[in-house]
Amino acid sequence: MKPMGAIPPEFRSLPLAIGGRSVEQLLSSSPVFVYDAAVVRSRITRFRAAFPGVDLHYAVKANPFAPLLAAMAPLVDGFDVASAGELVRVAMLGKAISFAGPGKTDAELETAIATGVTINLESEGEADRSLAVADRLGRTPRLAVRVNPEFELRGSGMRMGGRASPFGVDAECAPALVTRIVAAGAEWRGFHIFAGSQALDPAAIIDSQAHTLDLAARLAEAAGSSPPLVNLGGGFGIPYFPGEQALDIEAIGAALTPRLDALLKTRFAIELGRWLVGEAGVYLTRIVDRKESRGETFLVCDGGLNHQLAATGNLGTVVRRNYPVAVATASPDAPRETVSVVGPLCTPLDRLADQVELPVAGPGDVIAVFMAGAYGLTASPWEFLGHPRPAEILV
Ligand SMILES: *Cc1c(COP(=O)(O)O)cnc(C)c1O
Repeated sequence: MKPMGAIPPEFRSLPLAIGGRSVEQLLSSSPVFVYDAAVVRSRITRFRAAFPGVDLHYAVKANPFAPLLAAMAPLVDGFDVASAGELVRVAMLGKAISFAGPGKTDAELETAIATGVTINLESEGEADRSLAVADRLGRTPRLAVRVNPEFELRGSGMRMGGRASPFGVDAECAPALVTRIVAAGAEWRGFHIFAGSQALDPAAIIDSQAHTLDLAARLAEAAGSSPPLVNLGGGFGIPYFPGEQALDIEAIGAALTPRLDALLKTRFAIELGRWLVGEAGVYLTRIVDRKESRGETFLVCDGGLNHQLAATGNLGTVVRRNYPVAVATASPDAPRETVSVVGPLCTPLDRLADQVELPVAGPGDVIAVFMAGAYGLTASPWEFLGHPRPAEILV
């Protein structure tokens, strides 16, 4: 038997119900992604209490499901998008939008400038192209400078700073770029400094935010004007795997907010993706077959890697570990056994859970894969093998 990550507290009772609805009510077709709006709201409430006065932006790429975006819109201060496709999804929601990410095409810059979206510049070349597009449109572009910091977020699942990078302008070049875009008539919106992702150590985030504030202050001084907004990045992680602990965001807020009081002219934002939505999502997939092979039991489901790539360990992990899973249709006192849960694809990579202890289950029962609210369907190769696109539901 191998361990699995902890099931989010909201979903620990069996048989599973989400938003007051039973699994059978939710599974009009299988598989399905279910997102619980109450969980997202509770994360936002917790953020607001821990970070008074700090703007909260949602990083749309974590989960761009339209009903989810509509539900979040009244509760967040802005949306951060990474493509014109994401921009279109939030354009009508009436919130501040910023557009980050390398390789923005001229057409994307045009959409952003025409709709008043802030472009987080990833390079000098992108600044030149933005100014040229704005000139052509006769508009004043809103430009922020994304900075490639000289430090990184320690313990981050994805390191984004401290080295050569396709993201952002190297810190030492940022003040000159600010001066240049201001001189060219752009509306300078501030700095965007994102040092990493999926961090679970509050001390590392506190440290990184302190460096970020220092860096923003130094850059502002060198550029000779104070930024309207400093986007401090995010990087708040969630506990996917055995032994991982939920992040103490109150400790982070307590360290950060007193430091912001001194900087009256600047607003600060934190941009979060997975921390807001990751734990709110459950992927439900029905067991189609149960088989024994050489002493091991396999529960074969109607979905797997094609929909929830990350749970199979194939989205940027080095060592495969088990996400939390459950037999959603089981009763709490059912006898338990050790099984592996696999999907329908013809590859040994398609394994949702490896030798975990679960209640005895078979065809017709439903497996729940938790932590499926961020980087799920849109970060999975759902067309691979031609199974239908799974449904998504917000409850
Ligand atoms: C992806 C991304 C995020 C969101 O990351 P999470 O780990 O989901 O919080 C935030 N900011 C930027 C710039 C990103 O690229």
